[in-house]
Amino acid sequence: MASNSCGQKKARAVCERRSILAIFVGTTCPACRGRKQIRTAFCGNCYHSLPLPMKSDLWRRFGQGFEEAFHEGLAWLNNRKRQLELRGL
Ligand SMILES: [Zn+2]
Repeated sequence: MASNSCGQKKARAVCERRSILAIFVGTTCPACRGRKQIRTAFCGNCYHSLPLPMKSDLWRRFGQGFEEAFHEGLAWLNNRKRQLELRGL
C-alpha cells in the first residue's frame, strides 16, 4: 500500500506531482533552462509569452488543476521554441 513504485496509475500521478513540485520550488525554468524565481512554474520570459488563459490556470493550487496547467504551459512553450528554431530565430 505504501509503495513508492511509479508503475501504478495512482502512484505515477503522485510521482508526477512530486517532480512538478521539485521544479516549482527550484530555480531552473523547465522550458528554457534559464533562471527563475522559486515557487513559480516558469521564468518571467516564458510565463509572459504564454496565452492569458494559460497564465491564469497557473494560479491554481496543486491537485486543483495546477499540474494540468503546468503540462499544458510547458508543451506550449516547447512547441513555440521549436517553431522559433525552425524559423532560424
Ligand atoms: Zn523560461
